[in-house]
Amino acid sequence: MVTAPELYFHAKKIFECNQIESASFEAMCIIEHVFGKKLASLLLEKTTASEEQKNTVNNLAYRRINGYPLQYLLGKWEFFGLPFYVGEGVLIPRQDTETLVETVLKIKLPENPRILDLCSGSGCIAVTLALNLKNAEVTAVEISDKAVEYIKKNAKLNDSEINIVIGDVLSGETAKMFSGIDVIVCNPPYLTADDMKALQREVTFEPETALFGGNDGLDFYRSITKIWRDCLKSGGVLAYEIGMGQESDVKKILEENNFTNIEMTKDLSGIIRVVRGEKI
Ligand code: GLN
Repeated sequence: MVTAPELYFHAKKIFECNQIESASFEAMCIIEHVFGKKLASLLLEKTTASEEQKNTVNNLAYRRINGYPLQYLLGKWEFFGLPFYVGEGVLIPRQDTETLVETVLKIKLPENPRILDLCSGSGCIAVTLALNLKNAEVTAVEISDKAVEYIKKNAKLNDSEINIVIGDVLSGETAKMFSGIDVIVCNPPYLTADDMKALQREVTFEPETALFGGNDGLDFYRSITKIWRDCLKSGGVLAYEIGMGQESDVKKILEENNFTNIEMTKDLSGIIRVVRGEKI
């Protein structure tokens, strides 16, 4: 008979031997996921594992050492302190993106702000904003059917009321549906062709459509800035997440489209991660 602690130490060892960076943390996540209990109590109680639990842990550990992302294996991940369902077909919420949410939360907004989240993916930005800005009307715009299912599930999971529009953010037709918007927030695909050739193993399992931003990574900034500008109120804010080193290009794109008061914000690693501007 095998116990949960034994399975934990076994998974941890396999991860260490296979260069998984946070071996103990990932082993803990997997054990807690399979047993539905905190590792501390499993260790204390020396909980015995059923044959099925043992097989599940081994199977998850095996897939993990073959590069499959931990977040997809668990099916859920935390963003801004909230839980989100994740899986193939949606980008895994990154801590970097919390900088974008924080930037929007600091904007001086009217009583009932209208906010759009373009390229919404899992819906983590839209849901987090809706929960933190009680009187805001938040709309998520997303093209992928798979992602839209995740947005719906994540809004429900967090008890948040957001609107969902299925549409292409690169099309003027989608943008025409909106006017008088206070804030447009967007974490578009921004990796370059070179970045795509050198993806970390885990990232190769994430949707290319959520990662690749054209040859120089800037396609979405160029198009969205131009297409969605007219949806904003005068003084309305467009806030983008950007990739490392894209700040001067994105600033230029905003200036060319008559945005002013351009501000940049660094993420926790000190990398400029957000560029925002106001519509003149
Ligand atoms: N931040 C993601 C990465 O580095 C890219 C996501 C995006 O293109 N918006 O993998």
